[in-house]
Amino acid sequence: MTQALRIPASEHGINPREIDKRARTILNSLSDAGYEAYLVGGGVRDLLLGKHPKDFDIATNATPEQVKKTLPSTRIIGRRFRLAHVHFGREYFEVATFRAPHDESDKGQVGRDGRITHDNVFGNMEQDAVRRDFTVNALFYDLKTAEVIDFTGGIDDLNQRQLRMIGDPVTRYREDPVRMLRAIRFAAKLDLELEPNTEAPIRELSPLLANIAPARLFEEVLKLFHSGKALAVLDKLREYHLFKLLFPQAEASLLEEEPEGNYARLVYAALGNTDKRIKAGKPVNPAFLFAVFLWKRVQEGSAMYRELGNPVLQSVQMAASDAFSEQVKTIAVPRRFSNVTREIWVMQGRFNFKNQRRVMNFLSYKRFRAAYDFLCLRAQSGEAVEEDCQWWTLIQEVDEEEKIAMCRKVAPQSRGRRRHKKRRNTH
Ligand code: ATP
Ligand code: MG
Repeated sequence: MTQALRIPASEHGINPREIDKRARTILNSLSDAGYEAYLVGGGVRDLLLGKHPKDFDIATNATPEQVKKTLPSTRIIGRRFRLAHVHFGREYFEVATFRAPHDESDKGQVGRDGRITHDNVFGNMEQDAVRRDFTVNALFYDLKTAEVIDFTGGIDDLNQRQLRMIGDPVTRYREDPVRMLRAIRFAAKLDLELEPNTEAPIRELSPLLANIAPARLFEEVLKLFHSGKALAVLDKLREYHLFKLLFPQAEASLLEEEPEGNYARLVYAALGNTDKRIKAGKPVNPAFLFAVFLWKRVQEGSAMYRELGNPVLQSVQMAASDAFSEQVKTIAVPRRFSNVTREIWVMQGRFNFKNQRRVMNFLSYKRFRAAYDFLCLRAQSGEAVEEDCQWWTLIQEVDEEEKIAMCRKVAPQSRGRRRHKKRRNTH
């Protein structure tokens, strides 16, 4: 066993009160029961960086069953590698037994009935450190002694603001290509430099992302673009040739018109807004991200279908289907999101209609706000919808009477048109 570095509180400066009280309860209970238990991973890293951790993961030498005996609110999950979730009401903390590094020879040990016959096994604390991805993610915090325990040089790297892969980067990226995306995410989010050997192989290995399950990539993409540093993430993903593997159509659209076309402006404005919303603690919807990235393809596709003689609405719908069929080859977008994305696109056409009945209906529509935000982003990026954006902004701010007046002013003939529309719609 390598000698681990033990850094005292006087040097690392972590205030144990910053650790969630419930996580401290778990650490103390396991320790009182005679086990070793540490805070580990992102929680320790973020505390050292003076950031508020998103979650507090715990690593222990107790088996999941022993965790459950000590903390009865535990639920054991997973088959291949069992994990303990210690519940506090709806929330839970993950308590993972030290784990040996991933062993290729364990792969594929699946019985004929599909069950895993040879579980890959628990390990010791050092093994648990070195199977992690980056040195800054492999630090342990011992609540009892207030020490940070470092097997991989993570503290030095953190002080040098460096993101370094544990072990041989090429091997580790091949083992799990998602680590390339994690490298980009942590570098952007934590403002760390990629250590040269960690950085060097990424471009060449980027095609390995094609082997990752689209459902997992969806999760990773959300973490990347909802990290609060989406702008930096996009630049880095593109720099390392990863973006084109995730969003081939968006990359093509960006390349077609760079450097300063409307579409590029739309993408950058949208991601800038996303970052602002995250910082302000406002919710962000994945549907919006896809609406933005695929917008140019959808515009081009709808223009093509219109030229072929299809009605406007159907043209957008067909173009939307095309764009999504292509996109889901790499990223599995759940229907509940892609349906919203489609609506955002389809509703862009509704902003043209300003007669009173349609305006009132539209304003009270559930997805109005998302569609409106998208409209104004388009305006911001230079598309010729600036007037619409202003009109729809104003109409949301004025009272009922003024709303009616606004509609009359723009569409004085609206009664006649309305009847005409209505007739058509009832066919
Ligand atoms: P975040 O702030 O995004 O939650 P995190 O470091 O906690 O960052 P998680 O995805 O929550 O990241 O994973 C927890 C820990 O598990 C990581 O800190 C790392 O030690 C380890 N880990 C996660 N994913 C991998 C991976 N693909 N390969 C190796 N180790 C990993
Ligand atoms: Mg985490």
